[in-house]
Amino acid sequence: MVGSGIAGLCAAIEAGRAGAAVFLLASAPPGGRARTAVSDSGFRLNVGPHALYTDGELHELLTGLGVALGGGPPALRGARLRHGGATCAMPTGVRSLAATGLLTVAGKARFARFLRRLTGTDPAGLAGTPVSEWLGSAGLDAPGRSLAAALVRLATYDAHHDEFSADAALVQLKRSLRGGVTYIDGGWERIVSALLDEAVALGVRLAEPQRVLEVRTGCVVTNRTTWNPAAVVLGGLPPESVGELVGRPDVALRSGHVVHAAVLDIGTRTPARPTDAPSGFLLGVDEPLYWSRHSPPADLAPPGTRLYSAMRYLGPGQDPDPDALRRELRDHARMAGVEEPSVVHERYLHRLVVAQGSPTAAGGGLAGRPAVDSLGVPGVFIAGDWVGPDGLLADAAAASGRAAGRAAAEHAASQPVPPQRVASRNGTPEGER
Ligand SMILES: Cc1cc2nc3c(=O)[nH]c(=O)nc-3n(C[C@H](O)[C@H](O)[C@H](O)COP(=O)(O)OP(=O)(O)OC[C@H]3O[C@@H](n4cnc5c(N)ncnc54)[C@H](O)[C@@H]3O)c2cc1C
Repeated sequence: MVGSGIAGLCAAIEAGRAGAAVFLLASAPPGGRARTAVSDSGFRLNVGPHALYTDGELHELLTGLGVALGGGPPALRGARLRHGGATCAMPTGVRSLAATGLLTVAGKARFARFLRRLTGTDPAGLAGTPVSEWLGSAGLDAPGRSLAAALVRLATYDAHHDEFSADAALVQLKRSLRGGVTYIDGGWERIVSALLDEAVALGVRLAEPQRVLEVRTGCVVTNRTTWNPAAVVLGGLPPESVGELVGRPDVALRSGHVVHAAVLDIGTRTPARPTDAPSGFLLGVDEPLYWSRHSPPADLAPPGTRLYSAMRYLGPGQDPDPDALRRELRDHARMAGVEEPSVVHERYLHRLVVAQGSPTAAGGGLAGRPAVDSLGVPGVFIAGDWVGPDGLLADAAAASGRAAGRAAAEHAASQPVPPQRVASRNGTPEGER
């Protein structure tokens, strides 16, 4: 297995379960974009705001493993919307929908109808429709459409609504409304550790960090050695580097657009009076901005402090000036009620890759995403958040990882002569630990 993020770990687990002898190698220590850093002051920081979808494939796998992760849902009580330089109540239920100043009385009725219809709508029917077109014909007025678009961004991180396929948006919206999300105690590192523990228990062996330079059937060349596996999964690698590694830079993988975001994590002192606390949730409607308190509910901040995340969803090709973006995110935090003297920690991450590809309407939506065997190279499979027909984000990485792991194990088992699993230049398994 190449890659030790969610995709590679899930592939390793599945191949291990199928009885294959598995080596896991990656260019960096396990975790990928699901890693968690600890700041000098003790804040546990995911690579941007991370929430586990309770109805998603990753949660299902973890539940099946008996992993109990502590944490909690976002602090939506008193959640606010930002629109036109002011804030108003965010509809999270009947009462807040009635209270929100964003929509007129007629607009609220239309929005409530839109939400009710979501449950009964079959996502497959929207596979070739861009989100903007879907929302444009959903019977909403202009503020209702903007609010629905903000909810799509919130659930999917995708701000490219002229391309993004409505079936994927609908699947994810339904997941958010049905099961919700959980912020994880200790950060996503806990998820990575749980998956790693399971992989190791299944006999999966970890190699020292090494960069894969070339992949052919039965051969993986890295900057340290050459491996001769019966099958390979490239888990979590970007689509363009997958093509280059297998010597087919022109391979047409319909991976869609890359989803980017800029993030400002802010740690504050816990206010003496609860009424002085910043809003726990502030979602931009006319600007693609996000603000949420991650700790509490999750345990990510040292005693006496809180951890928030501000984020801007970036559209295709958008690469604004980092200083300007940081100022904008600070301004969003101020609007949520953060006062400068209470800030004890700040970390800015510019233009992160949230998803390496997104299902597009032109590409046929979720069903049109590349399959695990779409490279067409025997014994070489792919997985990641841009692969396979199931889920988005880490759920897509987990689902495609599992499918690719199974396919690789099957391929390995079908080889006439059991191949040498690993061969290094000097004949011993090099770089293993
Ligand atoms: C700001 C932000 C917020 C997010 N929020 C959420 C969320 O709320 N919910 C959610 O479900 N998901 C979220 N995600 C997405 C989630 O983090 C990713 O979908 C998931 O972690 C991807 O896992 P992966 O294994 O596919 O890829 P990665 O984690 O990127 O792993 C790639 C692996 O490949 C290895 N690799 C790459 N190139 C090579 C090479 N040449 N040789 C060897 N190894 C190589 C890397 O070392 C790494 O191990 C978010 C992401 C970001 C950035």
